[in-house]
Amino acid sequence: MKKHNFSAGPCILPEEVFQKAAAAVRNFNNDNLSILEISHRSKPFVAVIEKARKLVLELLDLKDQGYQVLFLQGGASSQFLLTAYNLLQKKAAYLNTGTWSTKAIQEARLFGELIEVASSKDKNFTYIPKNYSIPKDSDYFHCTSNNTIYGTQMKVFPEIEIPLVCDMSSDIFSRKLDFSKFDLIYAGAQKNMGPAGTTLVVVKEDILGKVTREIPSMLKYQLHIEKESMFNTPPVFAVYVSMLTLEWLQDLGGITFIEKVNQQKASLLYGEIDRNPLFKGLVTSEDRSIMNATFCLNDKRLNDRFDALWKEADINGLAGHRSVGGYRASMYNALPLYSVQALVDVMQELERKA
Ligand SMILES: *Cc1c(COP(=O)(O)O)cnc(C)c1O
Repeated sequence: MKKHNFSAGPCILPEEVFQKAAAAVRNFNNDNLSILEISHRSKPFVAVIEKARKLVLELLDLKDQGYQVLFLQGGASSQFLLTAYNLLQKKAAYLNTGTWSTKAIQEARLFGELIEVASSKDKNFTYIPKNYSIPKDSDYFHCTSNNTIYGTQMKVFPEIEIPLVCDMSSDIFSRKLDFSKFDLIYAGAQKNMGPAGTTLVVVKEDILGKVTREIPSMLKYQLHIEKESMFNTPPVFAVYVSMLTLEWLQDLGGITFIEKVNQQKASLLYGEIDRNPLFKGLVTSEDRSIMNATFCLNDKRLNDRFDALWKEADINGLAGHRSVGGYRASMYNALPLYSVQALVDVMQELERKA
């Protein structure tokens, strides 16, 4: 049987996606060629990337609103740099909610004045700062919707007049939001959309072209838009598997459906963390992420016993990030509810035996 996979990223994908992707490696599109050996400009692949773009806009409810969809390389980490390169003329405002925000800030500092509007570093990023003000003359505001490492998630986003830029790597397609409030969304595929190797960028075209600096080709959003993500060879297989995952999500009923499942999974696990006297959650309750739950044992002496129990139950990927410790259960879209139940059963077993 397959393991219950709580890995934070690269992460679990739907079983039917693995089956279709495996088949396409042998014989794609019934052409007796592998998806790995055909031209990225061939008709069957162009159809794949077009379908992927269309699915992104449909799922996010952003059709016909001036948004462009790109599939780039270099991970979300490259977007820390590209966003600033393409948008920062004088100054930009950033909310610091964790490791990834901190890295985004570091990169943006190379391009202009940087205003950190608020930070939760004082409490090891265990909460989302609220009631901060954003200078109106900033070129844009940048935030991280879900903090993969710490397990916090933004539930509300500021109402602002300047462009809103968001790193949604670990919660894109997991919950309903008014995505039209965002001017640029980026996400490394490997958390909730597909395999590692491509990064999704959804950008409102009218925010581009406002900086005066020269931008090298590979770093220029406008050029990638013009070339429809084919300025150079796109990550063909990663785009294909992402397309399959988006198709799977669409067939299930889209974000409206998956959000309900994600809520169920999160309630089940957080319910147990709060009920079971052996465990405690690591972040402020109201800011808990429905994707990545961080928790620990009150008595560290039980860690070894707990570790043995979950490994025995075929659970994978539960160790917390090395900068936080404890445990982290990542419950991305493709993780079934019964996997969360398997984890809860183990937590209860430990309670009985402790
Ligand atoms: C994983 C992650 C990143 C880094 O993504 P890479 O694709 O590895 O560069 C950035 N931001 C968030 C929120 C992440 O979870």
